[in-house]
Amino acid sequence: MADVFAGMKETPFWWEAAPRPEEEAPELPGEIDALIVGGGFSGLCTARVLAQAGKSVLVCEAGFSGYGASTRNGGMLGPSFHKLGVKGLTARYGTERTHAILRQSIGFVDFVKTLSEAEGIECDFQRSGRFRCASRPAHYEQMARELEPLIETTGVDAEMIPAARVREEIGSDRFYGGVRYRIDGGLHPARYHDGLLRVVRDAGAIFAPQTEVTNLQRTANGFRVSTTRGNVEAGQVAICTNGYTGKVTPWFKRRLLPIRSAMIATEPLTSELMQRLMPTRRMYGDSRRVMAYYRPSPDGQRILFGGRAAGPGDRPGKNARDLRNMMLDVFPELDKTRITHSWSGLVAYTFDHTPHLGEQDGLFYAMGYCGSGVARSSFFGTKLGHKMLGNVEEGRTAFDDLSFETRPFYTGNPWFMPALVRWHRLVDRLGY
Ligand SMILES: Cc1cc2nc3c(=O)[nH]c(=O)nc-3n(C[C@H](O)[C@H](O)[C@H](O)COP(=O)(O)OP(=O)(O)OC[C@H]3O[C@@H](n4cnc5c(N)ncnc54)[C@H](O)[C@@H]3O)c2cc1C
Repeated sequence: MADVFAGMKETPFWWEAAPRPEEEAPELPGEIDALIVGGGFSGLCTARVLAQAGKSVLVCEAGFSGYGASTRNGGMLGPSFHKLGVKGLTARYGTERTHAILRQSIGFVDFVKTLSEAEGIECDFQRSGRFRCASRPAHYEQMARELEPLIETTGVDAEMIPAARVREEIGSDRFYGGVRYRIDGGLHPARYHDGLLRVVRDAGAIFAPQTEVTNLQRTANGFRVSTTRGNVEAGQVAICTNGYTGKVTPWFKRRLLPIRSAMIATEPLTSELMQRLMPTRRMYGDSRRVMAYYRPSPDGQRILFGGRAAGPGDRPGKNARDLRNMMLDVFPELDKTRITHSWSGLVAYTFDHTPHLGEQDGLFYAMGYCGSGVARSSFFGTKLGHKMLGNVEEGRTAFDDLSFETRPFYTGNPWFMPALVRWHRLVDRLGY
């Protein structure tokens, strides 16, 4: 058999249409109204609000433009209804807060659509809908039980698709039905990132790549920020580092579980094959504990397939082999299809499965999107910008003032994760 990995690139498929720019970092200003740490969607959306309100803004990004997860993800947009479900959320936060969180979440996809249209960002937004496949018969029953209160609370346009009708949605015999959501969508994350960066720069903000923030010291007027390229006096500081949060902000690091997520892209498939495998061209995910997610590329020619990476380090070869095996489990007829790209990035989970934003010891922050951060980070970043401006009404969210938990002795290194993932994979295999 021909080597299906021959010539595979170890960079994101997205960087083909939106190559990472090679640019010189600008000279840093001595003083700035607001300094944003991290140049992904969270940081850029925060910067957009501040700069458009007339503030002087500096975005410091440790890597090149789009280094983090924001140009590496699946580009799948959804309300990301909480992992805990209506019941679990209600037990934790009470009925009123639960309803507020879910109702706000249902607006996230429209939020991105409106923002990109208003700013003229061309990012291949598609209202594709999503099909969440039931990997086990029991999962189908559970999905049905959870969907009812969700529809009651939010009015979300979704329906159960029984096993007999699965092939309406996906060309696979692997599943026992699933839920079809119509509200979800997809975009090209690197084009979206580049569009946001253009908007932020047009509004007058300075974007400084290759500029890592190394120390934050509180002063009478804000913060003295040390970077690898000089110091800046900043009136306000926002931490938007999500899965890449480092030791410069230990309070946040202790509250995040950085986890590597990986993706592969296939070579272009024939339109007949694409029509058979993804007849409705939706975003897809399954119901296993270590779940897989997949979608057609925006031009509808390839399959982009993602899941948990083999380990904490970037191992494109190993990830490609693992993800291909998972993909063949869903679509066995891709066994001769070449894999052209394999890449990965870091996401950040939280102990309560909830994303967080707010202010801590004078530092503003938005983070912890639990692997579903394209729409959430756009919304949270925007709200954070309003909070920093003191726009109380516009900055308010249903996620405000939730306790951002850590665990005793946890310092930010989730050493226990590989064992936990192995356990979850075993449970998946045993069929629970
Ligand atoms: C493979 C993969 C697939 C995914 N798929 C999806 C999906 O389909 N749908 C979805 O909703 N979400 C998905 N996600 C998650 C989503 O990409 C993230 O939640 C989102 O991009 C987070 O944006 P952010 O701006 O908060 O963080 P990031 O984009 O990660 O940006 C953080 C930045 O902070 C910088 N930084 C860190 N420390 C410093 C410092 N000290 N100084 C300066 N800069 C610093 C980093 O270099 C980094 O660029 C996926 C993620 C991955 C990795």
